[in-house]
Amino acid sequence: MTTIIARATFDYVCHPLKCPRCGQTSSDICGINLQTKLREHPTMDSLRVGDRLELREDPSMGGYLVIHPPREPLRVIEEWVCDECGTSFLWAILEVHDGTLASVEPAELDESTLESVDLVTGQALFLFPTVETVELMALDPAELRARIVRAEVERLAELAKG
Ligand SMILES: [Zn+2]
Repeated sequence: MTTIIARATFDYVCHPLKCPRCGQTSSDICGINLQTKLREHPTMDSLRVGDRLELREDPSMGGYLVIHPPREPLRVIEEWVCDECGTSFLWAILEVHDGTLASVEPAELDESTLESVDLVTGQALFLFPTVETVELMALDPAELRARIVRAEVERLAELAKG
C-alpha cells in the first residue's frame, strides 16, 4: 500500500492591501491569494504581520529569483490578487526582520522597487515566454532586474490597450 503525503509548498499572507487598479483596500485580508514560499516547511498557514517567519536557507528552493545577496531586513516581492476587482499579477513587498514578518506593502514592479528588494517570487517568470526561463536564471542580478522591469512595462502597456 502506498501512502501519498501531500506536502504544502507555501503559506498564505493575510494583510489589507490597497489595489493600484481599483483603489479599494481588500476587505477580505486572507482573500488576496498572497502566497509565500519563504519558510523551509510551509504548512499553508495564514501568516500576519508580527508572526514568526523562519526563512529557508536557500531561497532558490522556493523558486525565488535572487537579485541581491539577501540582507537584513530581507525584502521580497510576492504576487497577489485584488479581492475587490479580481486583478491578478499585483505585487507586494514583504519585509522579514529578525525572523518575523514585519510589513507587507503594495508595490509596482519597477526599477526603484527592484533596487530595494533581495528576492522576487518565481511568479515573475510568468511575465516571460517559457523558453526564456533558463536564460533568465543565468543572468547577473543587474541584467535580471532590467529584464523584469522591461517585461512588466510591456505587460502593462498590453493591458492598457485592453
Ligand atoms: Zn482591485
